[in-house]
Amino acid sequence: MFDYRPGHEGIEAELLDAVAEVLHGGTLILGPRVREFEQAFADYLGKEGEAVGVGNGTDAIAIALRALGVGAGDEVVVPPNTAIPTVSAIRAAGATPVFCDIDRGTCLLDVDRVETCITPRTKAIVPVHLYGNAVPMAPLRALAARRGLRIVEDCAQSCGTLWQGRQTGTLGDVGCFSFYPTKNLGACGDGGMCFTRDAALAVAMRRIRAYGCAATYVAQQEGVNSRLDEMQAAILLVKLRRLGAALARRRAIAARYDELLAGAVPRVRTAPDVEHSFHLYVVVLENREAVAAALKADGIGCGIHYPVPIHRMPAYAFLGHAAGSFPNSEWAAERVLSLPCYPGLTDAAVERVAAVVRRHAAS
Ligand SMILES: *Cc1c(COP(=O)(O)O)cnc(C)c1O
Repeated sequence: MFDYRPGHEGIEAELLDAVAEVLHGGTLILGPRVREFEQAFADYLGKEGEAVGVGNGTDAIAIALRALGVGAGDEVVVPPNTAIPTVSAIRAAGATPVFCDIDRGTCLLDVDRVETCITPRTKAIVPVHLYGNAVPMAPLRALAARRGLRIVEDCAQSCGTLWQGRQTGTLGDVGCFSFYPTKNLGACGDGGMCFTRDAALAVAMRRIRAYGCAATYVAQQEGVNSRLDEMQAAILLVKLRRLGAALARRRAIAARYDELLAGAVPRVRTAPDVEHSFHLYVVVLENREAVAAALKADGIGCGIHYPVPIHRMPAYAFLGHAAGSFPNSEWAAERVLSLPCYPGLTDAAVERVAAVVRRHAAS
């Protein structure tokens, strides 16, 4: 399903040099490499603004919410079809997740439904650009402006995805990225980033990531410990230079799957105005378990993103949502299957995977 090693072929010497430089450089945490990577990442997003390196993608979302003043007693609208961390971050900020069902075609937050989820306690919306697709941001931004709500984009899966030609992560109040190794831009460990065009928010996020104080021993606000480290920043600087090529390869693999599966196996639709980055290539199957078993029998990995919508997980039973509460999310959870899609995957492998899926998919 994923292997980072082929993606490092040809850059191993550069990665080792970058690590050696940090070892000899004299700073291991929040030093020059982190600043350089923050600037390079902000430049990559192509918008005036500041990037703030943090420990991981989950913390990026929690820190963004905290910096926006979202906390206990506040509600945050979020889709149930997402990775657990989207919701654990909302809880870490002290807020209450309010689920809004998805669109069956794109498996993304159904923007037309969001207004029905808003109460006097709603403070923010967390659209999740799942699979590398992107939520329709025009109507969501209009709604947020009209109702005085903040938008924190979960871009953990959408690094490099364009919406109307603009990078996801630049379209709301804060864009939150993960550099977990499987992500489009992967570190050799954990890492995350918050991007904002609001300088005051950037100051707050810099404080919150370091116990509430930037450089002094006096906390200006309550914070956490969630820092990007110099080793990961040095590695990410090397990998950022290859991100364009990695994204091109993901898109080429997806286009090949599209050709090979055409007419037989539908995939989750690309939303309008989106240049998808294909963090995941997700098909929709009525006989998913049979296809997954056939892939496994052939020694091919696959994944289910995600098998249980968040509102049906034991940890979130306290929110009180019965089965059937969010039917589209539950529908997707029973049908989605992610096929191998990562830069090191060969054309021959893509063809082999597609052949097995085609052979076993129920029409
Ligand atoms: C990976 C992921 C996160 C969390 O990122 P970490 O770096 O693992 O904390 C959040 N949201 C989504 C949708 C993700 O896929």
